[in-house]
Amino acid sequence: MAVWDDVIGQPRIVAELSAAATAADHVVEAHLGPAEAASPRTAGGMTHAWLFTGPPGSGRSIAARAFAAALQCTSPDKKLGAAPGCGFCDGCHTALIGTHADVETVRTDLLSIGVKETRDLVRRASLSPAGGRWQVILMEDADRLTEGAANVLLKAVEEPAPRTVWLLCAPSVEDALPTIRSRCRLLTLRTPSVDAVADVLTRRDGIAPELAAQVSRATQGHIGRARRLATDEQARSRRASVLRLPLRVADIGGCLRAAQELVDAAAEDAKAVAEEVDAKETEELRTALGAAAGAGSRMPRGTAGVMKELADRQKRRATRTQRDTLDLALTDLAAFYRDVLALQMGGTPDRVANVEVLDGIEQIAAASRPEQSLRRIDAVLACREALAANVAPLLAVEAMTLSLRAG
Ligand SMILES: [Zn+2]
Repeated sequence: MAVWDDVIGQPRIVAELSAAATAADHVVEAHLGPAEAASPRTAGGMTHAWLFTGPPGSGRSIAARAFAAALQCTSPDKKLGAAPGCGFCDGCHTALIGTHADVETVRTDLLSIGVKETRDLVRRASLSPAGGRWQVILMEDADRLTEGAANVLLKAVEEPAPRTVWLLCAPSVEDALPTIRSRCRLLTLRTPSVDAVADVLTRRDGIAPELAAQVSRATQGHIGRARRLATDEQARSRRASVLRLPLRVADIGGCLRAAQELVDAAAEDAKAVAEEVDAKETEELRTALGAAAGAGSRMPRGTAGVMKELADRQKRRATRTQRDTLDLALTDLAAFYRDVLALQMGGTPDRVANVEVLDGIEQIAAASRPEQSLRRIDAVLACREALAANVAPLLAVEAMTLSLRAG
């Protein structure tokens, strides 16, 4: 299996990356110096800084990881003319599973990436690759860099060490700070087709074709969400309750109850994540700081600040998990009303994305007009924006459910 097999529905991107990996391989094998290596800035040549963009679910970080693997490929078949990225050799394999010594992945579960972390990263990036090929830094959420952090990164991206490659990922070009994006080679991924996603789920993940088709359609080509829906019962049931919400907002009481439930479900999700990770993380830090095992034991002098820093970080992560879960619910809700609108505009039921709630969609479509559907979609989008702008979740969601009422 080649490293590109997981990059779904992006033949042009794969061709470009594969060509660059081939050029990069030539740099390594021919022991080219920095000046020679930097010169071929043509389409197929190697570039030291890349920006992978594409809507959520388009697989930008998957593409970046595949490229990182291809850069580390040590397959002997390359000597016979095979392109790098075999997927089998030690270089490819460890890069793909995230254990390669020269591939550093930056994945944040916080709302922003700060100056201090970025400085550490820049220091790391300046090291020579242990394996003698490339030092790859893969940053999954480059849109979360603070302005200060982006300035720290800027110089490193502008004048990288000869064997350093930066792979930055962001939802869109606009999300990356202008100074950064002007120094990167840009790749724009598109959302893979529903059929392509269903095909991968069936072929790769062994999911039954019918379920694969249903979840692919429901998530409109978002591979990660589709896979999660297909494999996680709880995710399916949470989604099902979100999709029942439009039928429950007939009166004010119903609106307020639905809002409260939506916010509670998101908070529970954040709590589940916290329970899974926080305790372990805290215990690890305590041990590292020299405390005896066991939660009750005393901490050495002078470590309170570090412990507090961790607690703050965990709190910020909980906030983000809750926000992400809510955002997902709102995405589902907007898709529901888009289905309603499509029926109202003369679309046929076989075009509906959320087939599992077709009766609800038909019911609302019959009871309202297209203008109302448009207003409702706007209300959902306004709620997403309000949450992104830090409005208290319950307040924002209540305002939304109230505007979803009939009339
Ligand atoms: Zn390989």
